[in-house]
Amino acid sequence: MARVVIASNRVTPPSARSGREGGLAVAVREALRRSGGLWFGWSGTVAEETPAEAEISRSGKITYATLDLGREDHAQYYTGYANSSLWPLLHYRMGLLEFERADFDGYMRVNRRFAATLAPLLKPDDIVWIHDYHLFPLGAELRALGAQNRMGFFLHTPFPPPAVMAVLPRHRLLIESVGAYDLAGFQTEGDAQNFRDCVVALNDGEHLSDGGVRASGRRVSVGTFPIGIDADAFTRMAEEAAASDENERLKESLVGRQLVFGVDRLDYSKGLPQRFEAYDRLLSRFPDQRSKVTFMQIAPVSRGEVSQYRQLRRELESLAGRINGRYAEFDWMPLRYLNKPFSRQVLAGFYRRSRIGLVTPLRDGMNLVAKEYVAAQEPANPGVLILSQFAGAAKELDAALIVNPFDVDEIAEAMNTGLTMSIEERKARWLAMIERVRGNSVSHWVDAFLKALDAVPAG
Ligand code: UDP
Repeated sequence: MARVVIASNRVTPPSARSGREGGLAVAVREALRRSGGLWFGWSGTVAEETPAEAEISRSGKITYATLDLGREDHAQYYTGYANSSLWPLLHYRMGLLEFERADFDGYMRVNRRFAATLAPLLKPDDIVWIHDYHLFPLGAELRALGAQNRMGFFLHTPFPPPAVMAVLPRHRLLIESVGAYDLAGFQTEGDAQNFRDCVVALNDGEHLSDGGVRASGRRVSVGTFPIGIDADAFTRMAEEAAASDENERLKESLVGRQLVFGVDRLDYSKGLPQRFEAYDRLLSRFPDQRSKVTFMQIAPVSRGEVSQYRQLRRELESLAGRINGRYAEFDWMPLRYLNKPFSRQVLAGFYRRSRIGLVTPLRDGMNLVAKEYVAAQEPANPGVLILSQFAGAAKELDAALIVNPFDVDEIAEAMNTGLTMSIEERKARWLAMIERVRGNSVSHWVDAFLKALDAVPAG
């Protein structure tokens, strides 16, 4: 079997691992665990200058090739273009888009530098798999250096339709660059279709009869590969965590109240202000629930260097203060709002303890928290998942209580429904969901993508 080479923005060698590894890192490790391979990308360190060569280390079957990012490269490529232009645009938030030509140039420069650093490490029969929005142009830059390898790209975020994509200055260059890949993979069929439509509407491309597109003169296969989790391992983790010290302390602190639980990076795509408003609405419209329920929201600070994220943090602090001020009793704090991160082990126990898992992003590529919540439940007494219709996960987890995350009354009503739902209905909904989560593991996702990449017809 050919060697798999993976490139992603961040690489986490074993020395840099924490229990808080994101979905992408877990998936990449899974892809490389079995057959071994190379994982290339940023070390996570900001240095004076971006070095010309990668630092190589090995652990088991995986070789890590990482490089630091120079201060200016980090500011323009990562904080600037990737996180202040692409991220909001890909999540349909045109009003939050910021664009600076210098940032775009920095983004292209870093992708060129990554290509120049990775190209000498490639062997002719390596299969190259590039991940996510930071690295759209990496494949084209590798091709420009002569790489003829089979190359696939997977986007972990949503992909918007042409009318939204057209708002991004220089979008043409970006879409054009995807023409370098043999396979472009997306989380949902809607994202894949938006991509095809963008290639045709914005880049003079062409739909092909097999679902692919002709882009920049090359044929690109297009596929849908919803990312999954290792459900059985997560279930085991939740079972163990149920007896942990943290879980005991949580249980004691609840003094019999039902727990509504959310955990998200502090990101404007996650719909947190609307969620807080919905909880306020639950307490005002369904006063019977007062003193009987506790909402705990964990929201570790993310991308604090981007102004929109700092503003969101202030907004949530003010909402949390208002809700607790309005409803708290001397012996009941309605909302627990925490900015610190927790390990997935601890989260697994919290999911299992909670009666409601609240996952209401305004737009999300997949949302692994939704799948983890399902995997963590106790079969005899499962909780209720409230899930945004705009999370990729809603395509599979349609037995959740599906809500429009902009409609705070709808979320409040779903919370009340979940808090009063019969055990029979909770079990029936959970059984339908756990089957889907188990049926689409992360290793299945890796296999499906690599198999599709292998099957792409030459030329
Ligand atoms: N996560 C974690 N600790 C935290 C918050 C989140 O380990 O304090 C994990 C969570 O368990 C999940 C991932 O981070 O595996 C978040 O993935 P998701 O797809 O839901 O959202 P993203 O952050 O990738 O947008």
